[in-house]
Amino acid sequence: MITTKTNKWPLIIAGPCSAETEEQTLGTCKMLAETGLVDMLRAGVWKPRTKPGGFEGSGLVGLSWVAKAKELTGLPVGVEVATSKHVESAREFGIDFVWIGARTTGNPFSVQELADALRGSDALIFIKNPMTPDTELWSGAVARLLNVGIKAEQLRLIHRGFSFYGHGAYRNPPVWHIALEMRSRFPDIPMVCDPSHICGNRHRIGEIAQKAADLCYDGLIVESHIDPSKALSDSAQQLTPAALATLIKSIRWRKSTTDNPEFTNALDKLRGQIDEIDSEVIELLSRRMQISDQIGEVKKANNVAILQGSRWANIVERAMSQAKELHLSQEFLKTILEAIHIESINRQNEVMNK
Ligand code: PEP
Ligand code: MN
Repeated sequence: MITTKTNKWPLIIAGPCSAETEEQTLGTCKMLAETGLVDMLRAGVWKPRTKPGGFEGSGLVGLSWVAKAKELTGLPVGVEVATSKHVESAREFGIDFVWIGARTTGNPFSVQELADALRGSDALIFIKNPMTPDTELWSGAVARLLNVGIKAEQLRLIHRGFSFYGHGAYRNPPVWHIALEMRSRFPDIPMVCDPSHICGNRHRIGEIAQKAADLCYDGLIVESHIDPSKALSDSAQQLTPAALATLIKSIRWRKSTTDNPEFTNALDKLRGQIDEIDSEVIELLSRRMQISDQIGEVKKANNVAILQGSRWANIVERAMSQAKELHLSQEFLKTILEAIHIESINRQNEVMNK
């Protein structure tokens, strides 16, 4: 249900990853409500786990605790739904909003099942990004809900980062430009950031949350547990309600207050996008150069020359056909490729003559 509470900007949603016990659910939710900084409460009762055998959620009894948390705090409550049965149960327990998890958004069969189950509902529906950085898949989930008559004003997007191969600074790197692309595709659907699942640990949540605020997101969804070290899921990333309050108070939301807010907002958003994309381009260039170094090693070991004309011609040819598709001028792309090629040759040269 849409209310002034659910339409607040910035919207702050908090709650445990999972409703584990009645005591933990109510205790956490009560403390969060008492901060006066939280607009809506979340708690998972069906947990999608990578491997069987972990804590898979408290199910229906958990739903009853979430419903009690609503009664106790007066705040709207939400759970994750992945099947039509979940939707039905959430409705029976008077749950105010639902979210579609990252694993589910990536599965069109499941999203369609949920859309069919949600037909006619006036609940607020949050759609997390899929595990893979695929704007089409995320857009497709939005389209499936709109197609069954869900109104755009009932929809919200959650940016929770994307799965990747290997270990890095984040559990799910944000790849901001994918989220920003979604925002420009659906300018009327608010987007909140989930720094908890992006980070996977408590330490960088503040940094990511501030970045989301800098990029003019519409709010945050953050995991909080009364005793994080004992949490049955996502223990490393949950904050105590007190730490959550400190975090929320520390964030500077960038809604402009100058004479012409529309102009400055638009400019801020665009500059934020540019900065993020630039830093990703630089990171990609660095990765590309590291691969060039490895190629240098392989060529050295096999006593093969650096320059192989046909390979370079193929690279240019492929880029030129991509340039057309992506509306980039061939001249521009050639300039960039040549600069990359020169640097790549220099790096290989260095490796081969070490
Ligand atoms: C969650 O919100 O607890 C959750 C399982 O998130 P995600 O779908 O983003 O992994
Ligand atoms: Mn979680």
